[in-house]
Amino acid sequence: MSEEAYRRAAALLSRSRRAVALTGAGISTPSGIADFRTPGTGLWSQVDPEEVASINSFLRDPAPFYDWFGAAAGQMFAAEPNPAHRALAEMEERGILRAVVTQNIDGLHQKAGSGYVLELHGSYRTATCLRCGATTDGRALLEGFLQDHQVPRCSCGGLIKPDVVLYGEMLPLAVLQKAEEEIATCDLLLVVGSSLVVSPAAQLPWLAIRSRTPLILCNLQATWADSYAQAVLREDVAKSLPALLGG
Ligand code: ZN
Repeated sequence: MSEEAYRRAAALLSRSRRAVALTGAGISTPSGIADFRTPGTGLWSQVDPEEVASINSFLRDPAPFYDWFGAAAGQMFAAEPNPAHRALAEMEERGILRAVVTQNIDGLHQKAGSGYVLELHGSYRTATCLRCGATTDGRALLEGFLQDHQVPRCSCGGLIKPDVVLYGEMLPLAVLQKAEEEIATCDLLLVVGSSLVVSPAAQLPWLAIRSRTPLILCNLQATWADSYAQAVLREDVAKSLPALLGG
C-alpha cells in the first residue's frame, strides 16, 4: 500500500470542511452483506436479481421477490456497521464530511451514526401501497413476511412494495438531484466501496472532477475514475478509512 497515497489523502481530508462520500456495496461487504451483483455469492447464487427484483416481475407475481428480498432483509436487519461506516460518521462529527450519498439500501450508515444520508436506491425501512399510496413500516412488513410467508397486502387490497428501487424503475428524482447538488458543491469527494459501474451513481464523480474538486478513491477494484483521483487506496475500506482518521 502506498504510504504516499495515504499521506496525500489524509492531508486533503484534514483541509476539508464539506466533503461528500459516495458509497457502494464494497463498504458493506465487511459487515457480511453480499453484493448481489457478484455472481455465485451465497444468497444470490440461485436467482438472477435482475429478473426476480425487476418491477415487471414484481407486478406480475410478487411472491418470488418477497422470498428473495425477505432473506436479504433478514441479513440486513442483523448486520452491524463496520469501521468504514463508523469512520464516515466520525468525519461528519468532526465537521469534515457534509453528506453520504449511497447506492446501498442496508441502512448501515444511519446505524453507524451518519446524520445526512442520501439513499439513491431507496430503503427497506419504509414500504408503499401501489394502489392507495399509504406508507408503512418496511421492516415490520418484511419481518411479518419472514414469519408467515404471505405476500403483504394493504387494507385497500393493493400490493405493497418496499421503497427500494427495483430494476426497471426510476431512481427517486429528488434524492438524485440533491446528491448531484452536494457533489457539485463539495470540497472533496470520497468514493468508498463502489466500482462505479451502476448508473447513474457511476457518473456522479464527474460533477466533482469537472469542477476540479479533489477525489479520493477507496475501492478494492480499479474504477474509471482512478486516473482522476489525487489518491487511490486499493485496500479493504474497513482498514483504509479509519487509517485516514489516524487510527
Ligand atoms: Zn392501499
